[in-house]
Amino acid sequence: MDVTGILNSINMALPSGDVPACTPIDGSDIGHVTYDSRETLDAKVAAAVDAFHVWREVPAPKRGELVRIFGNVLRDHKEPLAQLVTIECGKIIEEGRGEVQEMIDVCDFAVGLSRQLYGLTIQSERPQHTMQENWLPLGPVGVISAFNFPVAVWAWNAALALVCGDPVVWKPSEKTPMTALACEALFNQAVLRYGGAPDGLISVALGAREIGEALVDDTRLPLISATGSVPMGRAVGSSVARRFGRALLELGGNNAIIVTPSADLDVALPSILFGSVGTAGQRCTSTRRVIVHESMHDRVFAMLAEGVDALTDRIGDPREEGILIGPLIDKRSFEAMQATLANVRRDAVEVIGGQRVLQDHYPDAYYAAPAMVKLMNQTSTVHMETFAPLTYVIPYQDLNEALNIHNAVPQGLSSAIMTTDVREAEYFKQHSDCGIANVNIGTSGAEIGGAFGGEKETGGGRESGSDSWKAYMRRQTSTTYYGTEKPALAQGVKFDV
Ligand code: NAD
Repeated sequence: MDVTGILNSINMALPSGDVPACTPIDGSDIGHVTYDSRETLDAKVAAAVDAFHVWREVPAPKRGELVRIFGNVLRDHKEPLAQLVTIECGKIIEEGRGEVQEMIDVCDFAVGLSRQLYGLTIQSERPQHTMQENWLPLGPVGVISAFNFPVAVWAWNAALALVCGDPVVWKPSEKTPMTALACEALFNQAVLRYGGAPDGLISVALGAREIGEALVDDTRLPLISATGSVPMGRAVGSSVARRFGRALLELGGNNAIIVTPSADLDVALPSILFGSVGTAGQRCTSTRRVIVHESMHDRVFAMLAEGVDALTDRIGDPREEGILIGPLIDKRSFEAMQATLANVRRDAVEVIGGQRVLQDHYPDAYYAAPAMVKLMNQTSTVHMETFAPLTYVIPYQDLNEALNIHNAVPQGLSSAIMTTDVREAEYFKQHSDCGIANVNIGTSGAEIGGAFGGEKETGGGRESGSDSWKAYMRRQTSTTYYGTEKPALAQGVKFDV
């Protein structure tokens, strides 16, 4: 199906604007969109503020009903939206489907949550006093998202924000505007079916960094949830802090899998390969580092090199069944991969892959053979996140050394250990400094039920499952006195008036 056909099937016309949207599959234009100006953004934020005043008064389970309907609209349109995701960001269609499924899953999760936004009752030290902790809607939320999860990250935020009582103004990546407009159109269908939701609950503001900056500086948005690179997060985090807003940051990763001597390699190797080359290495949770016991360094590297080699003819158009590795998002991304490879070659024992492929067929697109780099030490180049299918294989002598290597990078998103020794597994979970620590599964492919996010330069935010909803609400402590005498003061303080 072409883009017009896909948009038709979700009842959306091809947008007409002056900014081209293109596909990394062959570099061609797939349509044209219109960027927001500061004025149109201002109007969208104002509409979100108006919507907030109405939406916050709607009981949370009724807010959940809108999210339930949206989840069903997504179910009805899973395939066309998945195809659009694949066309616009280049991930293989199976992963496009997985991304839309993640949206549906988080809607279901949020519907359940809408009846469980529990506070606390607290024992008061004073007679005839009750104390409560209440969770109240926060206000309109600004969401900034990255190209590689063009729809799921927004859905994680939007589904939770909506049940919590908050409208959302969304600035998607400038590389994936069309999927954002498609999500907005599908959400509007849910609003029609629901009946009675205020205008402005969800809006999309298209544009590059400048529109993101304007969103970040807008004091009407008490929370900015931003997903992207560490430099972006550094800029967003400090701007939001300057105005005493709240920032939820989901930034770059540099994820490692430790392979111990007891590892079951039939379990470990498929996970390492999926983490390394899946999504063409363009996941925040992609496996960048494999830290292998020295006794197996040569063997595991050889097996990974063989695995990568066997994938050569599985690189190609991500819409085709059987293809496992699609294109990099753009030329800049390919050049960044080449620059990193040139740096690391100086220290590497061996480098497999990494070259451009299929350029005769796709002169305006960038497909790369996955690279496996055998190192004896973790060099400074390895400390940087390179957003491409590029994996370093590094030896260690004992588990503490493996953990030191593991924790030495500035990012702290996802980690894993391959072991059949329960002591090693538990020790690893205690000492990995990441937000995610897996045993016998890889670093990528998280489920929505857990809180997703990482430490250190990954930004500290948590999204999606568990109690991540608390980021979208404000906490209020409330003490009520129901007696008739002069109320007692806390800490036994006497104040005789
Ligand atoms: P990017 O940082 O280039 O852009 C992300 C978004 O931020 C875009 O919408 C962009 O327009 C906007 N932006 C950039 N600078 C901004 C600024 N100063 N103020 C406001 N907005 C700004 O990232 P990308 O290339 O789209 O995505 C890849 C990066 O995202 C990788 O580092 C990856 O690890 C990270 N990522 C993290 C997660 C996570 O959950 N931790 C998920 C996906 C991607």
